[in-house]
Amino acid sequence: MRKYVIMGIQGSGKGTQAKLLADDLNLEHISVGDLFRWNVQHRTKLGAQVKRIMAAGHLVDDDLVESVVRRRLDDHDWNFGFIVDGFPRNARQAEFFLESYDIDGVINLELPDEEVQRRVLARRLCTQCGLDYNLIAYRPKVEDVCDVCGGRLAAREDDNPEALAVRLAEYHEQTKPLIAIFQRKEFVATVDATAAVPDVQAAIRTHFNLMRPR
Ligand SMILES: [Zn+2]
Repeated sequence: MRKYVIMGIQGSGKGTQAKLLADDLNLEHISVGDLFRWNVQHRTKLGAQVKRIMAAGHLVDDDLVESVVRRRLDDHDWNFGFIVDGFPRNARQAEFFLESYDIDGVINLELPDEEVQRRVLARRLCTQCGLDYNLIAYRPKVEDVCDVCGGRLAAREDDNPEALAVRLAEYHEQTKPLIAIFQRKEFVATVDATAAVPDVQAAIRTHFNLMRPR
C-alpha cells in the first residue's frame, strides 16, 4: 500500500498530477480543497463554518484543516493507499503526520516564481457561467468572450501581480521548513513542474520506481 504527500504552488499542476497518480495506482486522492468544497456544497456544519470564514475575508486556519484531514484519514479504509494534497501546512502538523502514518514519500513540484506568475495571470473566468479559461492553454475563440454563454471573461480578483507576489512569498515561507522536515525523515522527490503534464507524471514515477503511465 502506497502513501504519498504532494506539494506544489498554485499553477504547478498539483491536482492534475495527484489525480493521474491516484487513478492509475488505485490510490485515494485526499484533497483538502475538494474536502472543503464538498462540505460547502452539501451544506454541512463545517461547510457553513468555512463559508463564514471566507465571507469575512479570512483564510481557513491550519487547525481547521488539520481536523478535517484527521477525520478523513480516520474514516479511511486502510486496504487502500492515498495521496494527500494540501496538507500538512506547518511544521507541527508535518511532524505529527510523519509519526502517525507510514508515508512512502513526498512529491515536491517545483515551479519558478516567474512561471507561476505567467500561468496564474493567464487565468480567466466567465463572469456569467463560471467556466475557466487560460490564455496560454485554453483560449476563448473571441477575445474576452465566453465560448459557451457569450459572457464577459475577467481575471479573478486576487489573480493580480501584487496579490500573487504575497501568495508566493507566503508559500515559500510556509513550505521551506516542511520540506526540511520531510527531507530529514522521508524520501522527497523534487520534480520540475515546467514540463508538460505527461512528462511531469513520468518524472514522478521514475523517482518512486513506479510503472510508467499507461
Ligand atoms: Zn460563460
